[in-house]
Order: sequence, then C-alpha cells, then structure tokens
Amino acid sequence: MAKINSNYQKLQAGYLFPEIGKRVRAFASENPTAKIIRLGIGDVVLPLPDPILDAMHKAVDEMGKVESFKGYGPEQGYDFLLQAIASHFKSQGAEVAPDEIFVSDGSKCDTANIQEIFDIDNVIAVTDPVYPVYVDTNVMAGRTGEAENGRYGKLVYMPTTSGNGFDPELPKGKVDLIYLCSPNNPTGAVMPRSSLEKWVAYAKANEAVILFDAAYEAFITEPGLLHSIYEIPGAREVAIEFRSLSKTAGFTGTRCAYTVVPKDIKARNAKGEEVSLHSLWNRRQTTKFNGVSYPIQKAAAAIFTPAGEKAVKANIAYYMENARIIREGLKGAGFTVYGGVNAPYIWLKVPGNLTSWDFFDKLLRESHVVGTPGSGFGTHGEGYFRLSAFGIRENVLEAVARIKSRLKP
Ligand code: PLP
Repeated sequence: MAKINSNYQKLQAGYLFPEIGKRVRAFASENPTAKIIRLGIGDVVLPLPDPILDAMHKAVDEMGKVESFKGYGPEQGYDFLLQAIASHFKSQGAEVAPDEIFVSDGSKCDTANIQEIFDIDNVIAVTDPVYPVYVDTNVMAGRTGEAENGRYGKLVYMPTTSGNGFDPELPKGKVDLIYLCSPNNPTGAVMPRSSLEKWVAYAKANEAVILFDAAYEAFITEPGLLHSIYEIPGAREVAIEFRSLSKTAGFTGTRCAYTVVPKDIKARNAKGEEVSLHSLWNRRQTTKFNGVSYPIQKAAAAIFTPAGEKAVKANIAYYMENARIIREGLKGAGFTVYGGVNAPYIWLKVPGNLTSWDFFDKLLRESHVVGTPGSGFGTHGEGYFRLSAFGIRENVLEAVARIKSRLKP
C-alpha cells in the first residue's frame, strides 16, 4: 500500500473556522429569530468597482474573437500587469523591476509554496499569534517536529502581545527564515520603519531570509508608515514580499496576487555556494503554475489606472470607516482595543478572566455578533479577540450598538 506524507498527521486540527461555524449553527437553531451579524471571517463584501469590471468585460470579449484570443500566457504574468505593478512600487518609494514580480492566484498559495525552495533543515521563526498558513505549510514539509500544547518543537515563536506593542523582538539565536506580516492579521498592528530596519540588519548579519507578507499594505492610513519592505535600504538582498489584491480590490473571489523575489537575494546550496532565489522561484513557478487568466490580469491592471485607484481607495475608506466605528465604539464601551487604524482588523482584549472562546460564546449569546477567538491564531492570542471591518455599514453600526448596550466589559 502507498504511504502518506506522515507530516500531515502532525497538523493540528483545522479547528478555528469549523468550530466557529458549529457554534453559530447551534445558536441559530436554538434562536431562530436572532439576527446574527458576522464580523469573524476576513472576507470582503463590496462588489468589484466599475473600472475593474469594465476591463474584465472587455478582456472576456477579446477571448471570443480569433484575432484577440489568448491561450497560455507567461507563467509570471503579462507584461502590461508587471509594468503597472512595478510603477506602483516606484510610486511608494520601492525599486522593483517588472521581471522580479510573479503574478499568482493568491497570497495564500504564494506564502504557502515559498518554503519549497528552501532546505528542510532551515530554522523557521513565526510570530505568535500568526496567520496559520505559514506554520501549517512548514508542518506539511516536515520542518517543525511534533506539536505539544499547541506549539511545534522546532519552530521559533516570537510573541507579539500588548507587552511589546505587537512588534516582535529579534530571536535570541540564529534563524534562517522569518515570516513577518505587516499590517498584521490578526493584531492589526503595523511594524514601524525602525523595526523593519532592525529585521533587515538581522537578516543580513545572519544570512536569513525575511518572508514579508504585505497583503494589507493598502489599508495603511497613517502617513510615514512603510508599505513595502523594499523602502528599507538593503532589503532587496534579504526579503521576499507578498501582496494580494484580495482585500485591496475585492478580489477574494476573483483571485489575483503578486510576489516579489528580487534578483539580489541569494541563499546557499549544500556546497555553500550562493544561489539566486529569483531563479529558483521562477523554476518552481514555470514547473507548477500556468499563470492567472487573461481577463483577471486585465481586471487587475485596471486597479493601477487613475480611475481604478480612485474606486479601490473609496472601498478601502469604507472598510476603514467601519474599523473606526468598531474601534471607537468598543473603546467608548470600556474595552481595550488595538489595531483598526492601518488594518481592517480590530484586536480587542477579552475582559476579565474569560478565555477567547468564553468571550466568543458571550458575544454570540448576548449580542448575536460573531468574531474570531484570538487563541485560534496561537498561544499568545489567548485573551484576545478579532473583529473584522469587512461588513456592510448598517450591520457594523448595529453590531457596535448591540455590544455597547448588551455587553459590559
Ligand atoms: N496573508 C494574510 C495575512 C491574509 O490574511 C490572507 C487572507 O486572509 C492572505 C495572505 C491570503 O490572501 P489571498 O486571498 O491572496 O490568498
């Protein structure tokens, strides 16, 4: 009989969202008249803006004519989109060449797949709490050892809590691969320039690689904060950056993202020689990926036109106003809240001695509002709770009003 990859049996149950679903279904069947408001899962609700939709329609029509039909495209993405993305980076103060950009169908896949080009014995550092994809894909690859009390023996965990301003400290020893996410899911925190400088210096000194997930960079509202790690001098030699159009432009269902692997970044082979990560990732993508569809890439390119940019900014402003309503509403009700200024997530301190799951149940029972227990993102997420700003305004207003009137911290 064939044998399985037994690393899969080291995965901890995909417990968080199925368990939320189970508890919400049970509550709904016992309380059929309750109007439940979901601020749990981070999925967008606003439709695609017109300039983006128009570009997609036009591209679909092109596929119906022999003279403009497109078959397989370049695995890395069409040049029109790569050029538009490179110009966008330039406008943000980051130097990225079009052929250093790899267009894909999502940052989930890219942040999951990137570990494939690295040796099995690399030491991996992740924040705690963390976006679970970074951890689980390294478990599947066999880099983490077994889990004990929710933690894998061979991973280096970097606590990010109110104690350190949700800004992870450098590891005590040497690590090889560092996953950073800023603006952060779930804490909503943004790493300041000084921290990113510190991480780039650490990576250089330790020959480490930073895997920088900037899926939420478009939600940064405060001036002076960095959108790209490449705004830091020297980062091109140590960092790979991931960006997604999912939340930025309502592409969670449409699917389009991009990853930057600069030509300057190297890692060593078994003989100790330096090897280009750009060529390894290019080899990986050309072998395993056949590109994002033409109509979707045309729609994505429209995001970077003046009309597209304006429309996308309006949607982001809508979500960030939701974030403000949640943050200020809860603060006014006496809760301690973090995030929600430069990220669409509000990370609140669970009141009293309740666990994250206790608070989940209380919020659902008393306010009929669904959020996400912080403990689902890691041991140091215990005692916290995530609310998402991706909601229809009237639901957000009602959720906050209910929490204020029915729930006391
Ligand atoms: N990275 C982070 C931190 C996320 O929160 C998400 C989605 O929730 C992703 C990546 C994945 O995004 P995509 O829809 O592009 O796969």
